[in-house]
Amino acid sequence: SAFVYAPAPESRAVVDIAPSYGLFIDGEFTEAADGRVFKTVSPATEEVLSEVAQAGEADVDRAVKAARKAFATWSALPGAERAKYLFRIARIIQERSRELAVLETLDNGKPIRETRDADLPLVAAHFFYYAGWADKLEHAGFGRRTTNGHSGVNPKPLGVAGQVIPWNFPLLMLAWKIAPALATGNTVVLKPAETTPLSALFFADVCRQAGLPRGVVNILPGYGDAGAALVAHPDVNKVAFTGSTAVGKQIARTVAGTRKKLTLELGGKGANIVFDDAPIDQAVEGIVNGIFFNQGQVCCAGSRLLVQESIHDELLDSLKRRLSTLRLGDPMDKNTDIGAINSAEQLARITSLVEQGEAEGAERWSVACDLPENGYWFAPTLFTGVTQAHTVARDEIFGPVLSVLTFRTPDEAVAKANNTPYGLSAGIWTEKGSRILAVANKLRAGVVWSNTFNKFDPTSPFGGYKESGFGREGGRHGLEAYLDV
Ligand code: NAD
Repeated sequence: SAFVYAPAPESRAVVDIAPSYGLFIDGEFTEAADGRVFKTVSPATEEVLSEVAQAGEADVDRAVKAARKAFATWSALPGAERAKYLFRIARIIQERSRELAVLETLDNGKPIRETRDADLPLVAAHFFYYAGWADKLEHAGFGRRTTNGHSGVNPKPLGVAGQVIPWNFPLLMLAWKIAPALATGNTVVLKPAETTPLSALFFADVCRQAGLPRGVVNILPGYGDAGAALVAHPDVNKVAFTGSTAVGKQIARTVAGTRKKLTLELGGKGANIVFDDAPIDQAVEGIVNGIFFNQGQVCCAGSRLLVQESIHDELLDSLKRRLSTLRLGDPMDKNTDIGAINSAEQLARITSLVEQGEAEGAERWSVACDLPENGYWFAPTLFTGVTQAHTVARDEIFGPVLSVLTFRTPDEAVAKANNTPYGLSAGIWTEKGSRILAVANKLRAGVVWSNTFNKFDPTSPFGGYKESGFGREGGRHGLEAYLDV
């Protein structure tokens, strides 16, 4: 669970943050070709954590060349050999998870309890899981079929994977991308988000510690221009992107007309549907987790609450009472529930959408709490009286803001849940198993949870319908994105 209490107080002294970091290319940390650097700050305090080399086009080219060279030997290794490296990486992540959790919390602003109890265990789990696949591809439907003894199917890696990830789960998004790519014999050039480069650079060090051959993983901190150069590089065979729908569409245009394979994990506007027979206390916990986990900066957040009309008032009363008990503040405090927003830009985006919600006449309610003076903060907020016409019902806010709508019948709930350009996640709260199945089957969402929310597992494919993207990450389906057969 994301909310396990562990008594040891976390100290930032457990991790050494160097004053500067390089790019990680061909097994070495190196400066950018043009010498550019950028600063990464703690969103909770605005303190500069480190200065990081900023990748440009020439660095992308250098990294892709290193990955291409490494591909020849890496792809030729027996799966069991690749598995050994992945198991080693998984174990080192477990051993160094305290350092990594603190680093991630400092760079991202999310509560230490979440990085320690959710992000880090899931990161290790993904490397363990895909390590287990590396030597079994031939036996799991990707491999040789011998019904007549004369024909077969061979799984082949694609080559160099260019991967671009966002800032909301920096290390977990890296694991979702790198673990299946390496298990299938591809090599990687990954660009972390500009506001959260540190855990990816720490991961580069983990790769060295694991003895991973040089060039198999390359990490290029930088901005959107470096991401665009990576996506456009002619010697990249596969592009995997997680981020906003707007950038995803731009990437799809760049890749169109090339032979590159593409998977996109984009935005969402998930519906959490609560029927009148749902256990209210449990549903309240699920709603809170659904939209306030990671300050709501979650692509599959349950950002729209669809509540059956007859229980609207009772549910809202319970929800407001529960929200008033959430602790907002220092992400390094293990008792903190709500940490900082990742950046000033993200805070501005959230603020502007909330102001728009008020201007359009939706009723705003925010938890009354003092916000820290420095850093980027937003108090947990609800909008009631929301209709489909309101912007806060349609646009992804990517912050701690829940829009509440009502419905009367299951059909109306399904229609409203599906009335969005997105299709990533949904939740159903009811005691009736038959209703769960009936409703889930009608939802156009890649992930549907019932009587729970935001539960992740490496065995389960994750991804969206419609403008939430295409392709799946996780599980056996996550391997298909990195193989030709
Ligand atoms: P973003 O699209 O602005 O940035 C994501 C990454 O793309 C960053 O590394 C950025 O530097 C890079 N980038 C920016 N412009 C680029 C370009 N032209 N070409 C290539 N790369 C470029 O998104 P963000 O604001 O950082 O992240 C929030 C968004 O990500 C939200 O919309 C959220 O829903 C989505 N997201 C989706 C998932 C998912 O799995 N579906 C997971 C996490 C986040």
